[in-house]
Amino acid sequence: MVHTDDNQIPTRQNHTVNPPSRTPNELPLWVQRQDLAEADLPYIHSLLAISFSDWQGQIEGFPWHSGYPIALIHPDGTKVAKQRSENASPYPSDWTEPSLGVNAVSEAIRSCRPTLLKSEDHESAQLRGFDSLAVPIFTRSTGLPCAIMACLLPAGAAQAGELKLLQAAALHYRSCLYNRFELLFVKDLLQTNAAQHKEEHRREILSDALRRMYDHIDVESVLSEVIDILEKVYPMSRTDLFLSQDYSSTNEKVKPLAFHQQEMDICWKAFMDGEIREETEGSRRRLALPLTGKQGVYGVLLLDVSASSFDDSDLSFVQMLSEGAGSAFEKAKLHEQANTLIGELRLINELTHRLNSSLRLSDTMQFATAELLSIFKADYCFILQLDRANDRFIVMSTNVPNLKNELFDKDYGFCGVMLTTKEPVILSDYHSATPVSSHLLDATHSRSLLAAPLLLNGEVIGAVMMTHSLPNHFSYDNYKLLQVLSAHIGLAVSNSSLHAEVRRMVITDNLTGLYARHYLNERIYRKQLQDAYGTLILVDIDHFKKVNDTFGHQIGDAILIQVSSIIRSAIRDSDIAARWGGEELAIYLPKLTMEQTMRVAERIRTRVEEETNPKVTVSCGLSEWTASDDKISVETLFYRADMALYVAKHKGRNNVAVG
Ligand code: GH3
Ligand code: MG
Ligand code: MG
Repeated sequence: MVHTDDNQIPTRQNHTVNPPSRTPNELPLWVQRQDLAEADLPYIHSLLAISFSDWQGQIEGFPWHSGYPIALIHPDGTKVAKQRSENASPYPSDWTEPSLGVNAVSEAIRSCRPTLLKSEDHESAQLRGFDSLAVPIFTRSTGLPCAIMACLLPAGAAQAGELKLLQAAALHYRSCLYNRFELLFVKDLLQTNAAQHKEEHRREILSDALRRMYDHIDVESVLSEVIDILEKVYPMSRTDLFLSQDYSSTNEKVKPLAFHQQEMDICWKAFMDGEIREETEGSRRRLALPLTGKQGVYGVLLLDVSASSFDDSDLSFVQMLSEGAGSAFEKAKLHEQANTLIGELRLINELTHRLNSSLRLSDTMQFATAELLSIFKADYCFILQLDRANDRFIVMSTNVPNLKNELFDKDYGFCGVMLTTKEPVILSDYHSATPVSSHLLDATHSRSLLAAPLLLNGEVIGAVMMTHSLPNHFSYDNYKLLQVLSAHIGLAVSNSSLHAEVRRMVITDNLTGLYARHYLNERIYRKQLQDAYGTLILVDIDHFKKVNDTFGHQIGDAILIQVSSIIRSAIRDSDIAARWGGEELAIYLPKLTMEQTMRVAERIRTRVEEETNPKVTVSCGLSEWTASDDKISVETLFYRADMALYVAKHKGRNNVAVG
């Protein structure tokens, strides 16, 4: 056995002569040192083989050992490759000692030295006719053999020179191997570099996109931004955005998240657990990315990409993008909500201010009707009041003239519903869902309804109803806003009603229900400013003191009421009857001649005589004014009527006299 100690072959200085023993399944030591796995072995084999063919290409035509081929052996003893040649029998595929006996390769592996073994030293009959030569090839970093170059020469042909030649070949091969490594390394480096560039570019896009998204304060722009970016980065992909909330977007790619559709399964799951979900179908990869903010999940971004062009870096990119989009969406949404709230507060403030600026019920209702129509963009609006005395709702104000003053039983229609529930009603389509029939909706051919009861101290005092000819016109936000507004409208309506009631009480005489004296004075004063003429009748019950004395004050009061109601039924709507004093009543008759007035007075006088029980009579004093009078005043008119009354009394009572 010949070992050469040629230091041209780098070996470890203190190399143990016996290399670590290992079973064939174990990784070679140099491979272990490189942190490679068993799975990498075929790759290493092929790398060794490729380098071997590189080497062959470079030494083409060089007459190695008179044409005897050189083989490359893996450190585990198995053959990797063999030089092309017609000169020798096939080389064994396994050079290990157990299978081939002692040979140059097994010795070289053991000793880590170039080895020449004469034919007679071989144990195997297969190698008897050959001298074997083997040169280990060491790695640069570990100094362990990564391959062995071997050659079989006819017995007796191998000399030291042949081993040197093989050593030279081994050195040459080693440079070919490292060349390959370097090529690989450079390729890897370039690939890493390209990946880094891609990543950097992505990050730039991402940070730019996130900045733009955060700059947007409206939801719509945030949504378009996300979709735009994805379409720019993945031009061959398809992006859809599904939103959970009642949100209508102008962007056709933004759709409501439908929970019932089967194909939406991954979107639904992503939405429910807030985690990214994906599925692969053929060459397509579908990713459902939840749009998550701090307060919850708002929707799902569905990305349909080609599976081959989408790797892990893409996944983390879209994930970061969707996370950013979720927060930006939330921010914009909150901003919009705050704005809406401010708008609503401003609206409520303005509305209540204007509602309360007039105390006239009709003004209040008309104003509220107009405002509601414009705020909710409704086609029709009705404000109804509950008439508790007659158990019915009455349309007090509407933009449909022929439905004004319409009466409904208190239990009828949506007002009836609201009277029991005291809750607002929103109906998306009256045609498809008609739990309740409604004359107002039928008459206006409406399909959408938004209604709210008007409450005062928790009691229903009326209702507001708004309708639209198209279905789904009113939103949930509308519903909430109306709930707030109706409270204010209810208050304003009740204020106006109370005010009207107080005013009615102020101008009305309690006992008789006729107007009070100050109101009559006011009205005559105004009539004298605008009319050309008018008359006044003063009615005084005869011997009323005696009536009281005879029947008592209560009967006296009843007679006063009887006389008042005779007067009321004997005059026109435009005439004004009032209680002027104790048992004295006055009637102003605008634009009536004295002749006509006398007939009215006479009618009153006879009817009182006929209809009262206990029977009383009245005396009437009449007076008139015309624009030609030199002195026109309320006092003058009364003075003259009083004078006439005095005359009537003097003439024996139950009489009519003209002043
Ligand atoms: P004459 O025919 O001259 O008008 O006699 P008279 O008794 O009606 O006249 P007089 O002015 O002396 O008396 C008016 C009486 O009317 C005095 C008062 O007792 C009575 N009286 C005034 N207001 C009321 C009222 O609200 N209820 C009742 N029961 N009596 C009234
Ligand atoms: Mg009197
Ligand atoms: Mg009297």
